[in-house]
Amino acid sequence: MANKSISVTDPLYDYMLENWLREPELLRRLREETAKMPNAGMQISPDQGQLMGVLTRLFGVKSYLEIGVFTGYSSLSVALAMPEDGQIVACDVSEEFTSTARRYWQEAGVAGKVDLRLAPGVESLDALISEGRTFDMAFIDADKPGYPNYYERCLNLVRRGGAILIDNVLWSGKVADPTAHDESTDLIRKFNKTLHQDERVDLALIPIADGLTVARVR
Ligand code: CA
Repeated sequence: MANKSISVTDPLYDYMLENWLREPELLRRLREETAKMPNAGMQISPDQGQLMGVLTRLFGVKSYLEIGVFTGYSSLSVALAMPEDGQIVACDVSEEFTSTARRYWQEAGVAGKVDLRLAPGVESLDALISEGRTFDMAFIDADKPGYPNYYERCLNLVRRGGAILIDNVLWSGKVADPTAHDESTDLIRKFNKTLHQDERVDLALIPIADGLTVARVR
């Protein structure tokens, strides 16, 4: 099929950031602090954070669910774009990484919006289902084997017309490499295929960073 996408070279990416990025100073500091950590690759890119902030405003998101918090760049991007009475449930398993996130939520004055739940993702999501909670938007960016379980639960937790965002769906392009058959690549391929046929959502891909699926709950 004819390819109408452009590939983002390093100079072009620099141009994009120079001309579009409006990163608040606090987010920049968080990004720079996280960049020094060994798992820095788990942090979303600043342009993706900005996109999530704009989506938050566009969708009028007042309740946001995140699975995979890491040091908090995505949740802070969303929190800063939410109204005063916005609410976030942030799920992660790492006390260590989320301690950085908590420090930045405090400094940004949004800590009161965030309910951090430290437990395996499925446990936290099942608890939210039994609490009868609903959300306007969810973001799945955690362990890849967990994706199908998180997605199914998000379909229960996100209201009709709400959005489920799913990160890393292009997996550095390995999903389209027929020689790549490591566990994560196969899992993500299978997951993408399942969503393609899932009639419960409207579906689109934003090929930003490592690929972001947007699923609108029907
Ligand atoms: Ca990610």
